[in-house]
Amino acid sequence: MGLPVNAGYRGRIAPSPTGFLHLGHARTFWTAHQRAVARNGILILRNEDLDRDRVRPEFVEAFLEDLRWFGIRWQEGPDCGGPHAPYSQSERRAGHAAAFEALRSAGWLFPCTCSRKDIQSAVRAPHAADDEPIYPGTCRHRSAAEVPAGRPVSWRFRVPEGQALDWIDGGQGPQSWTAGRDFGDFVVLRPDGVPSYQLACVSDDHAMGITEVVRGADLLVSTARQILLYRALGWTPPDFFHCPLMTDEHGVRLAKRHASLSLRTLREQGRTPEELRQSWR
Ligand SMILES: [Zn+2]
Repeated sequence: MGLPVNAGYRGRIAPSPTGFLHLGHARTFWTAHQRAVARNGILILRNEDLDRDRVRPEFVEAFLEDLRWFGIRWQEGPDCGGPHAPYSQSERRAGHAAAFEALRSAGWLFPCTCSRKDIQSAVRAPHAADDEPIYPGTCRHRSAAEVPAGRPVSWRFRVPEGQALDWIDGGQGPQSWTAGRDFGDFVVLRPDGVPSYQLACVSDDHAMGITEVVRGADLLVSTARQILLYRALGWTPPDFFHCPLMTDEHGVRLAKRHASLSLRTLREQGRTPEELRQSWR
């Protein structure tokens, strides 16, 4: 019999079924797993399958298998259910829509008709830390009620200029970001009606009672954006722990295109999870 579960800690791992998991994912998910185990808490697996153009169902089976092979165990997920089901984001649209409506009715959102090209070309828009161009403000004056007819509309969050986003990150130490300077007005709902990563993630982490988010350091600026959403929705943000990013032998950040470093390939080559974890030390 194991120790009684500490319901006070709820962590999560959130893979996307858009390719095979690589060693960088494994290290982040292993960290999340270890932090939940150390606190005798709950680890949730959430399938982040909102990107309809890139998602393929066979990658869900693949990540479940690869994570199990790597030794990662979770207590709630799309394969085993749990009190916060469903565990696939594509089935959680009602919650995303409710968060969207709350933001819109409170006046945080505006309808934007700019194309990606419009934004790229506007006064050579500066870029945020994650290389997203900072929104030049073209449609910012519009109220939520002024939705232009007949044009594709995305909905953006109007960031409070100059507001500080400070937190102590479990992995990266003290963080200090500024709305409007480090990132601009960001999309929460795409023209095809699909919620952005920022909105879906906040809505689901809140609804699932997540107490600590463990993810890659490439998402630090997303965390700053998400803290604004928590504040606007009147929700308490979880703690954050951002893991260092893994690079290949040339210093290039690992991506799903690094097929040779996919867990699948490494397993076929006879590598073991223990050996791969040793290499991180
Ligand atoms: Zn616009």
